[in-house]
Amino acid sequence: MKSEEQSLHASHRPGRFLAVSMSRLGTETAFEVLARAKALEAQGREIVHLEIGEPDFDTPAFIVEAAIAALRDGYTHYVPSAGIPEVREVFARHLSETRQVPVTPAQIVVTPGAKPILFFTIMACVDPGDEVLYPNPGFPIYESMIRYVGAKPVPIALLESRGFAMDAQQIADAVNAKTRMIIINSPQNPTGGVLDSEDLAIIARIAADNDLLVLSDEVYSHIIYEGEHRSIYSLPGMAERCVLLEGHSKTYAMTGWRLGFGAFPEHLAERVARLQTNCTSCTAAFVQKAGAAALTGPQDDVARMLAAFRERRDVIVEGLNALPGVCCQVPRGAFYVFPNIEGTGWRSKALADRLLDRAGVAVLSGTAFGAGGEGYLRLSYANSIANIQRALANMRVMLESFL
Ligand code: PLP
Repeated sequence: MKSEEQSLHASHRPGRFLAVSMSRLGTETAFEVLARAKALEAQGREIVHLEIGEPDFDTPAFIVEAAIAALRDGYTHYVPSAGIPEVREVFARHLSETRQVPVTPAQIVVTPGAKPILFFTIMACVDPGDEVLYPNPGFPIYESMIRYVGAKPVPIALLESRGFAMDAQQIADAVNAKTRMIIINSPQNPTGGVLDSEDLAIIARIAADNDLLVLSDEVYSHIIYEGEHRSIYSLPGMAERCVLLEGHSKTYAMTGWRLGFGAFPEHLAERVARLQTNCTSCTAAFVQKAGAAALTGPQDDVARMLAAFRERRDVIVEGLNALPGVCCQVPRGAFYVFPNIEGTGWRSKALADRLLDRAGVAVLSGTAFGAGGEGYLRLSYANSIANIQRALANMRVMLESFL
């Protein structure tokens, strides 16, 4: 016989055999739209893919060769959970040089993709009832994970009128005794917004004054079109209260390899490595070796990809601004545009669905990035100019048919 409490608990379960916590776990809609687009392609439809956030380039050949050499050299076994010591050393040196603050190998944890840095950090540092500030619209995994651990997500609105940068005053107003962490992301997914030095300095001061941990998602640090990437990690005292998330997926077109890394205060690195021991054991050894080669090898491919992204950005922004009811800012980083579509009269999700079904253009609704994304679409321009132009032409036909 089940007790009343057991029955009550069971009635809150999201499905048979499922834990209650699963009802709080969100998702990343890009993968769902990709699956729908692929299903349409399987039926013979032509689809332009502007939904998924991955470079369309091949991984640079020297990185592939480094992986093959590592496999031949026997990097085919378990390695320490935090990462191969010499790889952690390379990653630490890279961060010391690029963020201009000393980072030791003991602060580095290497993970299969950058996403586990988010997952593990939130698991390791946030308790039920805590509050976490995060950008909205923002990468959907932030809100999903905050909810999953039973904490309260507190959205910081990114406004088009501010170039989609976080508003420091809004952050200051949102902090209270329960606030544990601030998540920032620059260059930002989905808006392409970038945080300037002044914004970062204010956020750092708020974090220090309130003893908060900052999770700085810098996975797009190399994809920036004006000026240099600025990191909150570089500011005095921040390395002690900051988790810096980096990865190879976007910079080196290595999304499928699954390689990311984080720099933590040392005691957090140990705990996060322990989570990894409990979960994946370690990141694939030969992938780590290839990742070290990527950082120490020639960077011409990165520059070439950036130049191509810039050209595509300019084509897509101009094309979107010429569509009826659409208005698009010029993004400063990453490879996404976040056009305002309020002038079309459509709600975001309805328009995204319609574009896929009728125009064969796979894009994401702004609401896939939180409630703050209503009125916007997200398009990834990590695709050829020919495909971008095809998408724009199809969108024009569809939008004009509603005029
Ligand atoms: N952070 C942001 C802002 C992203 O957009 C992504 C991927 O889309 C990630 C983290 C995760 O990167 P990875 O594919 O290396 O796990």
